[in-house]
Amino acid sequence: MEDQLNYSGSASWLEISAKALKNNVEVFHKIAKGRYSVGLVLKGNAYGHGTELVFPVVHPLTDCIYVITPQDAFTMRQIEADRKLPRKRILVMGPLTSDEVLKCSHLEIEMVLGDLSWIEVLPILRSAGSRSIVHIHLDTGLGREGFNSETVARDLEFLKDFGDVMTIRGVMSHFANTEDVTEQDYATSQVAAFKAGVSALQAELSLGPIEEHLSASAATLVIPAANFSRVRIGISLYGFWPSPETRISSKLILNDLPKLDPVLSWKCMSQIVKKLKKGSFVGYGCTFRCSQDSWIAVFPVGYYDGYPRLVFGKAHVLVRGRRCPVIGRVMMNHIIVDVTNVVSDSTPVEAILIGNDSDEILSAEMLASWADTIQYEIVARLGSHLKRKLVS
Ligand SMILES: *Cc1c(COP(=O)(O)O)cnc(C)c1O
Repeated sequence: MEDQLNYSGSASWLEISAKALKNNVEVFHKIAKGRYSVGLVLKGNAYGHGTELVFPVVHPLTDCIYVITPQDAFTMRQIEADRKLPRKRILVMGPLTSDEVLKCSHLEIEMVLGDLSWIEVLPILRSAGSRSIVHIHLDTGLGREGFNSETVARDLEFLKDFGDVMTIRGVMSHFANTEDVTEQDYATSQVAAFKAGVSALQAELSLGPIEEHLSASAATLVIPAANFSRVRIGISLYGFWPSPETRISSKLILNDLPKLDPVLSWKCMSQIVKKLKKGSFVGYGCTFRCSQDSWIAVFPVGYYDGYPRLVFGKAHVLVRGRRCPVIGRVMMNHIIVDVTNVVSDSTPVEAILIGNDSDEILSAEMLASWADTIQYEIVARLGSHLKRKLVS
């Protein structure tokens, strides 16, 4: 077990389940029933799960991958080359320098046109004899990148002169408020603005058949009218419900509760297990004092790795299938756990920081609620330095 040596040292590691990833993609193919394409979002190091592990697993399961930075897209083209995989469609949704636009065009990476900086890029593309494929971003109510539906036709009139260097393949937008609510009035207004923007663009630029995409995970699960020709699945690819509200609405709307499987587990071997006498203090600030003789385990994982300091006083981890409280403050590279109930000697123990052990579940959502945040942030902040291991 050479691999075992690699990741069971003193540091913590992540286990990424290929089976869960496949299950979650399948869930969305079943919901789509072929009516629209299911694209997958691998931004932010695949939501902290690790681009290098996740990309090869999902590569055969989708027709298009979405990222924010061109660097992620370049990494993916490299993985394809190294593994002799065919090129999959990749769409960069974030901002680009002109050099990056040229490199993306060269590597057949699609881009998003969401502001007027492209006016300067198009002549550069032309003199380089290059051609790019873009999706126009409409801001239908998020207040982020994109053109307003009412002015987009005028704003982009100049594109008429650049048909030789640019193919417009799609129009996209992004919802502002689908997760936190069970009524979708705001989203409905965004759908209407999106349709208006697409019509205006068609009238002005005669785009011909184009892709239209607006929905992320939540809207795909709860707003069938917003699913157009494709959807962009992010958080739910990794087995998470976007929110409790989405879960409730989804059951009503789909008449079924899709079974999403969490993909990631986070584990750590103890650095030391020892006994402290009643009255001993634990951690910075002496915020915790043992009320009895106690067994504690020190784990070499902390806020540097993405374990939130804010969980102080609330969190537990799983040791030998039982909940054991994190005591004292979370440190940069350490947490301390009270293991009095599960150990009786100083043999090293493994802690599950996120994951399951027998019937105990410690979800990223639980960690998020202790840290006053959302599961998106918990997983996205898992250090890119952590060892990640693909499991079946
Ligand atoms: C992050 C993102 C998504 C995916 O959202 P989820 O809620 O994670 O499914 C889709 N589209 C855009 C533009 C995004 O930034």
